[in-house]
Amino acid sequence: MRVLVVGGGYVGMYTALRLQRRLRAELVRGDVEIVVVSPDPYMTYQPFLPEAAAGSISPRHVVVPLRRVLRRCRIVVGEVRTIDHARRTATLTTPATEEKGAPAERLGYDELVLAPGSVSRTLPVPGLAEHGIGFRTVEEAIGLRNHVIEQMDIASSTRDPEIRDAALTFVFVGGGYAGVEALGELEDMARYTARHYYPNVKPEDMKWILVEASGRILPEVGPELGRYTVTELRRRNVDVRLETRLDSCAGRVAVLSDGARFPTRTLVWTAGVRPHPLLAATDLPLTARGRLKCTAELTVEGVAHAWAAGDAAAVPDVASEEPGRETAPNAQHAVRQAGVLGDNIVHSLRGEPLETYAHRYAGSVASLGLHKGVAQVYGRRLKGYPAWFMHRVHHLSRVPTVNRKARVLAEWTLAGLFKREIVSLGSLEHPRAEFELAAGGKPFQDPNESF
Ligand SMILES: Cc1cc2nc3c(=O)[nH]c(=O)nc-3n(C[C@H](O)[C@H](O)[C@H](O)COP(=O)(O)OP(=O)(O)OC[C@H]3O[C@@H](n4cnc5c(N)ncnc54)[C@H](O)[C@@H]3O)c2cc1C
Repeated sequence: MRVLVVGGGYVGMYTALRLQRRLRAELVRGDVEIVVVSPDPYMTYQPFLPEAAAGSISPRHVVVPLRRVLRRCRIVVGEVRTIDHARRTATLTTPATEEKGAPAERLGYDELVLAPGSVSRTLPVPGLAEHGIGFRTVEEAIGLRNHVIEQMDIASSTRDPEIRDAALTFVFVGGGYAGVEALGELEDMARYTARHYYPNVKPEDMKWILVEASGRILPEVGPELGRYTVTELRRRNVDVRLETRLDSCAGRVAVLSDGARFPTRTLVWTAGVRPHPLLAATDLPLTARGRLKCTAELTVEGVAHAWAAGDAAAVPDVASEEPGRETAPNAQHAVRQAGVLGDNIVHSLRGEPLETYAHRYAGSVASLGLHKGVAQVYGRRLKGYPAWFMHRVHHLSRVPTVNRKARVLAEWTLAGLFKREIVSLGSLEHPRAEFELAAGGKPFQDPNESF
């Protein structure tokens, strides 16, 4: 029997991990095979991306290698393109099929776990596709870090006020935790860097702008802490613009709905997520918002042998008093749902009754830079250093594997003893550039120029 797990993120990895533990005997006998298909051979611990961007955690420690954790599973690096559940068949492309230009491969299965997560929700804003940068992957987080430090290099090496101004203007669109934490951490890092290493770039020369369409930011921590975060960011000279939208960023000029215009080389788009487009390429039922219709047992509604959880799944929130509510797309639900999902697959194989997923939202923690944060946990509200400390303790306890926990803790401890690392290694992204030039190739064009 083959269990196909689509996605190697929170749900995919934790479900496969649970199945690997609970079906150990069956896996050893060869009665069961677990196949995990994921475009990357690692799971990304997304809550650590802002700290990776700030340089507090190295990129390697933000990801968990799937082959190391899922030793009894077959890991396929590739992308599932379509699913014909009526025929229990998926099609997938791998780096090899793409290199050969071969058609997608077919893979049969008996049980399907569909967990491709979500993708950035974009809008048809002129210039966004050309100049925007997302903040969902470790590559984007590290790329953004290098880019911000590069802008400081550009600003410090020119007297041209236009170039300097655009280099030192950083616009973030979207005030959820991804946007606020990314801005908070990067602004903190950039201020430190300017103060210590760039004598001709003053922290007040930089413009950090947060654009949010609704009237509040960080809805995850509640209205009071959301207001506190606005005050705290404004105190740090961050220009927080509520009830404002980005109308255009064509020609590298961010034009806002309140009429403001900011020439900028940095536009970070963190304005929410939408369900993964793969879901529409299946014969499974979807809600009006495009998530998979699921039951509280994490089966896909009205369909046998199909399971889903996490950002891709509309799971009834049975712990909420509000009728018809779905569980929110966040890591807290994704991890817990994965455990129940794994157990339920085992129950169904053994003919046992299924468990219902019920979890009362425990609250959220958010970091706003070194020693700064907000937290709302089980109704208790924390600000500043205690919230930041809680954020670190919480995520250290949550990041998968003891190995990762030890490495992250070691990095945090060392960072407390030494000065911050502020080197920009943008050229790492183009390791052949120098050799190509030496060998007579064309001068290297920096793709960062586009954002
Ligand atoms: C910057 C940032 C910070 C966050 N911070 C927090 C936080 O502090 N607290 C919190 O609760 N939540 C946080 N979240 C949200 C949380 O990370 C998500 O809710 C969680 O990752 C959802 O888990 P998932 O398994 O559904 O999706 P993911 O973890 O995104 O996993 C989806 C997986 O599917 C893979 N995939 C995609 N397409 C295909 C395909 N075609 N075929 C096969 N595989 C595919 C992806 O590569 C990925 O591995 C944050 C998110 C971001 C971006």
